[in-house]
Amino acid sequence: MAAPKVAVVGAGVVGLSTALCIVETCPSCSVTVISDQFSPNTTSDVAAGILIPHTYPGTPIHVQKQWFKETFAYLFAISNSAEASEAGIHLVSGWQVFKNTPKEELPFWSDAVLGFRPMSEAELRKFPQHQFGQAFTTLKCDCPSYLLWLEKRLKATGVQMYTRKVTDLWELHSEYNIVVNCAGIGAHQLVGDQKLFPVRGQVLKVHAPWVKNFIRDGDGLTYIYPGIHRVTLGGTREKESWSLSPDPGTTKDIFDRCCSLEPSLRGAQDIKVKVGLRPSRRCVRLQREDLSQGGVKLPVVHNYGHGAGGFSVHRGTAKEAARLVGECIAALQGSSSRAKL
Ligand code: FAD
Repeated sequence: MAAPKVAVVGAGVVGLSTALCIVETCPSCSVTVISDQFSPNTTSDVAAGILIPHTYPGTPIHVQKQWFKETFAYLFAISNSAEASEAGIHLVSGWQVFKNTPKEELPFWSDAVLGFRPMSEAELRKFPQHQFGQAFTTLKCDCPSYLLWLEKRLKATGVQMYTRKVTDLWELHSEYNIVVNCAGIGAHQLVGDQKLFPVRGQVLKVHAPWVKNFIRDGDGLTYIYPGIHRVTLGGTREKESWSLSPDPGTTKDIFDRCCSLEPSLRGAQDIKVKVGLRPSRRCVRLQREDLSQGGVKLPVVHNYGHGAGGFSVHRGTAKEAARLVGECIAALQGSSSRAKL
C-alpha cells in the first residue's frame, strides 16, 4: 500500500496536536489538516489555557489522569526549552480557594502538578471570604501563540493545511484513506452527535502585568489566569447556549467577581471580551468507526468533546488518537495484502 493519506478535520488545539502526533508516530503518512477556521478564530483561541483538569464523568479517572500527565510532561519540556516564549508556554503558581472545605481535599491530579499543598493560614488571609485553599504550580498556554507554534511545526514536516468546511466526512473518502474528526463543537452538526452540547464561556483578556499568580475559585466560575501578554478573567458556564455575542452585563459581573478576589484588578486596562463554546460531552469521544457506502469503507478516528479541559489533556488524547490511526493503517495494510493474494 502507498503512503496512507490522512485528513484531520479541525485546527483547534485538538486537531493540530493530533496531526502532530500522527506525523511523529507515522512519518510515512501524508497528513492534511482541513478546517473552516484556523487561529485566531477557533474556540481554542478563546481559552485561558491553564492546565487544571476538568472531570469527565464518563471517562475512568485513571485514563483522565494519564492524559493530563502526558500533556503536562509535554508542555513542561517545552516550557523548559528555548522554544518556550514562541510556543507561549510558561509555569505559573497560584491558589485555588474554597468558601467551604471541599469533600475531596486531594484532587486526582494533585500529584501531577508541581508542589501541591494546602494553603497556610497566613496565605488564606489574602482571601477573607474563603476558608480553605490549595497552592500549586502548573502550566499555562498563551493559546494563539501555541496554536501558531503547532501550525509552524506541522508545516515544517510537510503537512498541508486547507480552509474548507466539511459537511459530511464521507465527502473525503475519494481523496483520503483515513479521516480524523477533531471538529470540536462542530461535530454536533458534522456527525450529528446529540450527546455533544455547547457550554458557553465568556472571558475578559486584560492588561494587568502586575498580576503574577493565578487565583481560581473552587466553584470553577471565577478565575484569574495571568499569561505572557494578558491576564484572562473568567468566567461563565452556560449549558446549551450557542450565542457567540458578548453580553455587557456578564462582562461587568465577571470583572466585579475577579476584583473581589484580586482588588488590584480595578486598575486593569484594555479590556477585551471573548466568547467560546466548550465542546462538552460526558466523555471525550476517542474511538474508531468504519463508515461504509456501497461496499467502500472509510476508517474514521473521532477525537472531540473535550469540554472545559481541552488544553489540559490535549496531548494525551492526541497520542491515543494517533495510536488508533496506527490501528486503521494496520487494518488497511492487512486488507490490501489479502486483496493481492
Ligand atoms: P476548537 O478549538 O473549537 O477547534 C475545532 C476546529 O474544527 C476549528 O478549527 C473549527 O473551525 C473546525 N471545524 C468544526 N467543524 C468543522 C467542519 N464541519 N468542517 C471543517 N472544520 C470544522 N481548557 C483548558 O484546558 N484550560 C482552560 O483554561 C480553558 N479555558 C477555557 C475558557 C473558555 C472561555 C472556553 C470557551 C474554553 C476553555 N477551555 C479550557 C476549553 C478548551 O478551549 C476546549 O476544550 C478546546 O479548545 C477544544 O479544542 P478543539 O480543538 O476540540 O475545538
